[in-house]
Amino acid sequence: MDEKQFLIEKVLSVKADLSIREVSDSLALMRHDSVNIPVVYIGSGTCGKVAGAEATLQAIANYLEEKKIKAEIVEVGCIGLCSYEPLVDIQLPGKSRISFQNITHELVEPLLDDIFNSEVPFGNVLGQFNNKRHNKWDNVPVIDELPFFKLQHRIVLANCGISNPDSLTDYIARGGYQTYLKCIRNYTGEKVCNIVDQSGLRGRGGGGYLTGQKWITAQNTVSDQKYLICNAAESDPGAFMDRAVIEGDPYLLLEGIAIAAYAIGATKAYIYVMDEYSQAYLMLNQAISQLKDFGFIGYNVFNSGVDFKITLVRGPGAFVCGEETALINSIEGKRGMPRPKPPFPALEGLFGKPTVINNVETLANIPFILRHGPQRFNEIGTPEARGTKVFAISGKAMITGLVEVPMGTKIKDIIFKIAGGVKDGRDFKAVQIGGPSGSCLPASQLDLPVGYESLWNEGAIIGSGGMIVMDEDTCMVDIAKFFMNFLQKESCGKCIPCRTGTVQLYQMLTKILNKQATTADIEKMKLLSEMVKATSLCGLGQTAPNPVLSTLRYFPEEYTALLQPEESGRVSGS
Ligand code: SF4
Repeated sequence: MDEKQFLIEKVLSVKADLSIREVSDSLALMRHDSVNIPVVYIGSGTCGKVAGAEATLQAIANYLEEKKIKAEIVEVGCIGLCSYEPLVDIQLPGKSRISFQNITHELVEPLLDDIFNSEVPFGNVLGQFNNKRHNKWDNVPVIDELPFFKLQHRIVLANCGISNPDSLTDYIARGGYQTYLKCIRNYTGEKVCNIVDQSGLRGRGGGGYLTGQKWITAQNTVSDQKYLICNAAESDPGAFMDRAVIEGDPYLLLEGIAIAAYAIGATKAYIYVMDEYSQAYLMLNQAISQLKDFGFIGYNVFNSGVDFKITLVRGPGAFVCGEETALINSIEGKRGMPRPKPPFPALEGLFGKPTVINNVETLANIPFILRHGPQRFNEIGTPEARGTKVFAISGKAMITGLVEVPMGTKIKDIIFKIAGGVKDGRDFKAVQIGGPSGSCLPASQLDLPVGYESLWNEGAIIGSGGMIVMDEDTCMVDIAKFFMNFLQKESCGKCIPCRTGTVQLYQMLTKILNKQATTADIEKMKLLSEMVKATSLCGLGQTAPNPVLSTLRYFPEEYTALLQPEESGRVSGS
C-alpha cells in the first residue's frame, strides 16, 4: 500500500482508527518524529535563499554523495529566525533534531563531519528540539527555552521551519485535513460559522472585524453562488508574514480556506497572491495539485456531497489591492481601485455575489479553532483580542524575523525579550507598527499591549503585523517622508484628497528636510493630514497621514530642528 492509499484508508476514512500501533508508527515516520536514516533539514524559504541556502543545500548534497552517506534532505520554510539563515537542522536516528545557524556552504563539511561523528560544533549551534522519544545532545539548549521562542505562542507558525511544506503526506501525518473532514462530515456550515464566532477571532489584516460575524452574514445571504477569497496581497514594506506562512505551511492555509468556504456555502475560492511572491505562488500551485490528487479539491469531496475548487490569482503587487474591494476588482479583471461601501462584499462582492475576504493569517487560525474548539482559542490573548498575532520584525532589531505572540503582549517584550533589542549597541528610538500607514511609537509607548483598540486609542494601528525597529540614528522626519513617498505612489488616484493630499504631504516633508519650512507649513501639514484622513474613500487614504501625525506627535523636536533657523523652537507635538 503506498502512502496515499494508506492515509486515505487508515487515517482519513470514517473508519480510521489512529490508536492502532501500526498506523501511529507510520505517521510518526511520515512527519519525521522518528527517523530510520539521518535527515538534514535546510531552511529554504525566501529569506533562507537570500542568505545562501541554495549553495548550502548543494554543499550538503555533494557531501552526502561523496561520503556515500544515505540520508534524506528536507527543505523547510522559515522558523522565524531570518537573520540566522541559512539554518540547517540534523536529525540522526534516536537523537534529538539539532539546529545550526548561519551555515554557509563553506561550513557544511566541518559541520557534517562533526555531527556524523556524534560531536556538536558549538560555534553555530542554535539548540535542539524537545522530543521525549529521542536522546538529547549534551550541553545543547532546548529550542523552546531560547529567549526568542520562550514568550511565543505558535498557532499559525507552529510547523513553519519544522515540517516539510511540500508534502501533503507530512501535513496529514500531523493531523492535517482531519479537521476539514470533521467539518464537512459532521457540521453544518452554520455550526462552523458559530464556532468561529464564539472563538472571538478578528481579522488579522488590520481591520479587526469579527471573522465569525462576517461569515455569518455571507452564510445567511441567499445566492446561487458565493465566494471565499484569501487575501495574500502583502505588499507593504517590512511585512512578510503571509509569505512565510505560505512558504512554511501552505496546507495549513489551504485547510483554513477549505473550512471557511464550506462554512459560508462557497464552492469556489480564490487566493490572491502578489506577483513578487513567486516561490509562494509556486508552492501553492503544487499544493493544490496534491490536494486534487488526494480528492480534497473537486466534486463530492470524500463522498461528502461537497464540491470545492480553488483558483490562484497573481496580483500586480499594488498596495491598494490589499483593500478588499480593490482586490475584487482586480480578480474581475478591472483596475484595482476600491469601491464605495456599502454594499459590503459579504452581501455583494466578487461578480456581485456574497464574498468573504480573509487574509492569510486569519485563515491559518481556522484549523486550530475547529480542531481544539473555540474555548481553547478564547483563552489566549485578551478580551478585546483573542488568540495570537504574527509580527514581522525588521529594521535595527538584533534578531529580524517572524514571531507569534499572544494578543496583549507588550511591544517592549517583543522587541527586547524576543528580538533581543537594538543591534550594534545603539539606543532604541522608535518602532513603526502597522505598515506604511501605521505609526511610529517612541520608547514611552512600548508598554502598550498589541491588540486592536489598545493601539487605536493611542493613534496607532496593528495593521497586518509589520514592526520596524529604529535606532537613535534614525531621522523621524525622513522616515515619515519615506512612507509618504510609498503611499503617494501607491494611491490609486480615485479620490482627490488621497491622490493630491499624499503628494502634497510628501512635498511638505521634503521642504522640511531641506530646511525651508516654517511653523506655518507645519500647521498646514497637520490640517491637510486631518483632511485627508477624514475625506478619503478607502483605508489607504484614511490612514496615509499616520506617519506624519505620529512623528509630529512623538518627535516634534525633530521637526523643530529642521525649520528655517529663525523659526526653531515652535513646533508643538499635538
Ligand atoms: S483613498 Fe486613495 S487609494 Fe483609496 S480610493 Fe481614494 S485615491 Fe484610491
